[in-house]
Amino acid sequence: MRRFVISILLCLPACAADADLILHNGKIVTVDTAFHVVEALSVKDGRITATGTSAEILKAERSARTKVVDLGGKTVLPGLIDAHVHALDAGLSEFRSTLPVLDSITAIQDYIRTAARSRPKGAWIVVPRTLPPRLKEMRFPTKQDLDVTLDHPVAFDGSYVWGANSLALKISGITRDTPNPPGGEVVKGPDGEPNGILRNASQLLKGAARSEGFSDEDKVAALRQMLQIYAAAGLTSVGDRAVTPMEVAIYQQLKSREVLPVRVVLTWRINAARPVEQVVSEIRASSWTTNQGDDWLRFGTFKVTLDGGQSVGTAYQRMPYGAFGRQLYGQTDPDARGTLFIDPEKLYRIMSAARDKGWQLTAHVQGGGAIDTLLDVFQRLDREKPIAPTRSHVMHGSFMSEDALNRMQRMGVIVDVQPGWLHFDVPALKRVFGLENMRYFFPLRSYIDRGIIVAGGSDHMIGHDKNNAVNAFNPFFNMWASITRQTREGEVIYAQEKVSRQEALKMWTIWAAYLQFGEKSRGSLEPGKYADLVVIDREFLSCPEDDIRRIQPVATVVNGLVVFGRL
Ligand SMILES: [Zn+2]
Repeated sequence: MRRFVISILLCLPACAADADLILHNGKIVTVDTAFHVVEALSVKDGRITATGTSAEILKAERSARTKVVDLGGKTVLPGLIDAHVHALDAGLSEFRSTLPVLDSITAIQDYIRTAARSRPKGAWIVVPRTLPPRLKEMRFPTKQDLDVTLDHPVAFDGSYVWGANSLALKISGITRDTPNPPGGEVVKGPDGEPNGILRNASQLLKGAARSEGFSDEDKVAALRQMLQIYAAAGLTSVGDRAVTPMEVAIYQQLKSREVLPVRVVLTWRINAARPVEQVVSEIRASSWTTNQGDDWLRFGTFKVTLDGGQSVGTAYQRMPYGAFGRQLYGQTDPDARGTLFIDPEKLYRIMSAARDKGWQLTAHVQGGGAIDTLLDVFQRLDREKPIAPTRSHVMHGSFMSEDALNRMQRMGVIVDVQPGWLHFDVPALKRVFGLENMRYFFPLRSYIDRGIIVAGGSDHMIGHDKNNAVNAFNPFFNMWASITRQTREGEVIYAQEKVSRQEALKMWTIWAAYLQFGEKSRGSLEPGKYADLVVIDREFLSCPEDDIRRIQPVATVVNGLVVFGRL
């Protein structure tokens, strides 16, 4: 104790000049309100103490023990924030073996053939989750496609819609006479027999393992590994957008062992497919609420899943999926508009209970019909008590409209977007709905011009590779997609909705931090904020536009410590 006091006293005259770390001779993009670019910054106890010219910072902040790093002109950005990931599922997806890139039905068939060779006859083969709009063929695989093995039951995980081969149907007793489960469909071919496509009906498959029996230890290790991969991609904070009590416990283990490489904000997704009284009493009984926790691990948002997915033809749209929907999603009814999982009155009761517990609110909404339903409920809540201070938001909001944009602006509702889908999914979706109906597909410029805060996210759920994952979580790719709006067919989709580099960077820094109630401590490089930053290999603000997606992190720093690469 005495020694501690003495050291403090000794330090008094020189304290200001006692940085742990100085980065100088760089292009440090601060993302402060004036978007200053500075040469140098200093760090002490995990926080930024000063920014300025190299000469100023070295003179004022350096002591004999300061680690001084000459950036050699390299660019530094605030630590990037992905507002939307699913880290545990993604971590487990390649925890035991590497996933192949499944970008065509042919690749899926190769995967099945390889798996069949190494498994005993009769053992299930589950093709990892793959989204049909991303397949080269742009159609949903049928039992004929999956019948490349007749000795193994095969299930294809297309998220809400699954595919099954002939043996899987047989083992599960699924025939032309099987009744459709509530809200689901056993899709039939022209011959009246099941064609292998099970829409919201994968529960009919008997024996297909959904998770491969991972132990708690596996889960802790897989989650930690995934978070380290995020750090290597330049991310310093993520929002995990659908945690269960089990996942919360795993995060808390990493936190208590002090091995979280990045900061995490948790979204509690409640199972709303139960009687409303049950859902409401679970919300009331829970001890969780927004901002509980600390700057490493905290609760952010309360979430329900309101509709399905645009990638599988179950997002609840304002218009029908039509004829191309049949090919892409195996849809039989050309008038189908998708599925709204929660009726508006039930949604209101659930959301008002969560609001009363102090939660920030959101719902997974992709189709326009679901967006409108959520905004109706937000409007009802807003009339009771202004919703803006809660920073409640639309999650995804893929099929926006002018009217929905205006309502969000009026209420102060913000948004969590996935611009990577512009690149990957527009080629298929424009064939479904027509280009004219893609006008408000991720209308980034329209949000920003209305003052609606836009948080960038990937919705990463499968795979460890930042560019090949579903969804690609490379933040530089996602910022590039926001800036260029270029699809994988090379087309620019509604150029008037492009954003600038500065705006894209804000989406992955200060605006994502705002959504997470973290903008006072993260999201920009300013004195007093955490030293969360990424050093990159080329100039973000001035490199050729197509190079943005190829930027690589050189080092990622969280709380003043290097978590990836080296300084
Ligand atoms: Zn998600």
